[in-house]
Amino acid sequence: GGGGGGVGGGNQAAVDRLLANWPPGKPKAALVVLARNSDLAGVRSSLGQLERRFNGRSSARYPVVYLNDEPFTPEFRAAAAAVSAAPSFFGIVPTEHWSYPPHINQTLAAEKRDAARGRMPYGGSESYRFMCRYFSGFFFDHPLLAGFDYYWRVEPDVFFTCDIETDPFREMRAANQSLAWTIVMTEVPSTIPQLWPTVQRWLAANPALLPADDSLLPAFLSGADGGGGDAPVLGDLAAADDAWGAAHGLRRSSGVGARARLAQWAQRARYMGCHYWSNFEIGALEFFRSPAYRSFFEHLDRAGGFFYERWGDAPVHTLAAAVLLSRSQVRWASDIGYRHGSWSHCPLDPESRQRCDCSPAWDALPGAQPSCQADYLGRVAALEAQQRKRQA
Ligand code: GDP
Ligand code: MN
Repeated sequence: GGGGGGVGGGNQAAVDRLLANWPPGKPKAALVVLARNSDLAGVRSSLGQLERRFNGRSSARYPVVYLNDEPFTPEFRAAAAAVSAAPSFFGIVPTEHWSYPPHINQTLAAEKRDAARGRMPYGGSESYRFMCRYFSGFFFDHPLLAGFDYYWRVEPDVFFTCDIETDPFREMRAANQSLAWTIVMTEVPSTIPQLWPTVQRWLAANPALLPADDSLLPAFLSGADGGGGDAPVLGDLAAADDAWGAAHGLRRSSGVGARARLAQWAQRARYMGCHYWSNFEIGALEFFRSPAYRSFFEHLDRAGGFFYERWGDAPVHTLAAAVLLSRSQVRWASDIGYRHGSWSHCPLDPESRQRCDCSPAWDALPGAQPSCQADYLGRVAALEAQQRKRQA
């Protein structure tokens, strides 16, 4: 580790002190930035905006945790820390979280990268695969984050285009939410051919881990029974629950029937590739640290797709949210203006836009974005309508 401080880079004691004196009632949250030393200018740009839009307020002042697979230089530390009024901490990613697990055939992985080079974004990159696997399976276990409950992932060179006047961490805690997103995007299919089949196998073995009656899974899937494209009607699944439960000797409304039926339906459905874009992500660390999520990730990791294909952490997080969280636990942070590259989200409501420097028109440049937002929001609305009907 750098600075003689292990993966905490010498900052562990300072983080522990900060948390020991944490203001009562304030969410234990941190901004988390994975970056290289060469990302310094982009880091200062992103964090500087977030400082002016949100984190500079004395009620916010959430610490910033910088992580890197190599030691940060003293220049990086000084220049990054100077952006925020809140304390900044610098850590190193443990080597075992940024390398090959023993079951991976590294020769085969190199062949797969060669074949993928130039055929998909980052197809030939080994470091990108380590990065995606890190965000999928390990960031939440970094020692510097051990005492925190929430994180906000921030990347270099992104833009926060609106003042953020409410505290997303407090809002998420109050609503018992585990994941927040701003942009949904369609994945490049060639990066994830075996991801959904692998999730299907996990689901077949763990149907009881599905949320009972308000899973988001149908919002991401279609084509059950090889056609028709219908999302399952959850009301029908619940009705079927009784019959299925009776046939399997279960009590009424145990919920197990509905879960098993949804898992069965998922075996015949297709994942459309729609995913919450993870370069912006606010989440509850408890979700990722849960035995269910760990089981989900370990199953994926064993299948090898982080290396033999090029699975992104965004579809992994999204599918995990779909199979493990209730719809109400996932938040669309639609009031946060955000841009990454040429893709952006600007709040639609004119009143919130008075504190923005963006236009929704920029988000909808024809053909520019492989966005699945309209489709996704339509499907979620349909799920909500079904649930209201069932409760009526
Ligand atoms: P993209 O948004 O998918 O095009 O990927 P990026 O290049 O922006 O990488 C995603 C995040 O991971 C950013 O925060 C990068 O700074 C970080 N990142 C990517 N590769 C590496 C790496 O090799 N080392 C480190 N330390 N950070 C990386
Ligand atoms: Mn990026």
